[in-house]
Amino acid sequence: AKEIHLLHYPDGVPTTEDFAARDSVLPNPLDGEVLIENIWMSVDPYMRGRMTKRKSYIPPFELNAPLEGHAIGRVIQSRDPRFAEGSLVTSMTGWRSHALLERDYLHPIPDMPDIPPEKFLGVLGMPGMTAWVGLNRIANCKAGDTVFVSAAAGAVGSVVCQLAKAKGCRVIGSTGDRDKAKWLRTELNVDAVINYRDTDDLSGSLGEVAPQGIDVYYENVGGAHLEAALDHINTGGRIAVCGMISHYNDKSPQPGPRNLFRLTTQRAKMEGFIVSDHWGSYPDFVREGADLVRSGQLKSRETVIEGLENAPEAFIDLFKGKNTGKMLVKLAD
Ligand code: NDP
Repeated sequence: AKEIHLLHYPDGVPTTEDFAARDSVLPNPLDGEVLIENIWMSVDPYMRGRMTKRKSYIPPFELNAPLEGHAIGRVIQSRDPRFAEGSLVTSMTGWRSHALLERDYLHPIPDMPDIPPEKFLGVLGMPGMTAWVGLNRIANCKAGDTVFVSAAAGAVGSVVCQLAKAKGCRVIGSTGDRDKAKWLRTELNVDAVINYRDTDDLSGSLGEVAPQGIDVYYENVGGAHLEAALDHINTGGRIAVCGMISHYNDKSPQPGPRNLFRLTTQRAKMEGFIVSDHWGSYPDFVREGADLVRSGQLKSRETVIEGLENAPEAFIDLFKGKNTGKMLVKLAD
């Protein structure tokens, strides 16, 4: 068996030297235990926050121990009658080929055989749920709103765009890549797309495509994106602060938005959230999301990197924008 360890907390942008692949011994399950072989694992931007030694909503990763994250595995030996050998389960034991678990740490994947299992790490997994919670519960998005979404072609952003379209909103997405911009416009039916690398005036570009202002900003990026959104937020506007990926590799805190006072003049609201606080509603989200997937209103893509040893590179590539939709690592068939 193999696992990926973190050797030291990265200084700035992570590099492959911060990680190492280590061999491990395949354990035998005792009564009540289940041995799984992971077939898919997720790499996510939030993991960067756990690679920093500071207090947060979730503790830092331990050094010289396997990293953790969402994964889908197959049960290969079971000493718990509730988990049949061959069945697929989700767990938090990503970054390793095998894991020995008790049932509290395992969940059967939703019983939807028409949907490929890896979708439960992306569009119908944590990122999709994040999109749903942020848009519905934090931004209180409703039909007729103009919604601006940053990192719009990513795992969370691409779901936000489509959920908002399905509600009857006008959607503006931003991305740093031409092919992703095309995907957003032609396949996801996003009304307008800004390529932030093609403009030196993001706020001006947003103003051009949103002459009536924006009602909702779904924040994934921070920095100039947040300032642009504040410049154009309408009276009573809502900003759901999901993440700020442009800051995750900062070596020291950067200055905040210069126009935060716009919240006051516009009587606007800005609220952060963590998806795990809403996990009790996951079954509701999966039911609704799966219906939209089946009806073709919720499309998804995955960027797949093969092999556990390439997981660190897949993770680092998130900060270079190499993924369209969900970034996944495939470990086995
Ligand atoms: P994505 O699939 O969106 O991948 C990250 C994308 O961010 C890249 O593809 C890239 O897209 C963009 N990006 C990377 N670096 C920068 C930068 N410096 N400036 C602008 N854009 C950048 O990741 P997720 O969908 O998994 O996550 C999206 C956001 O949601 C993150 O901020 C994440 O932390 C947050 N999140 C929050 C959760 C919560 O509970 N609050 C839960 C899950 C995610 P491009 O090529 O377009 O630049």
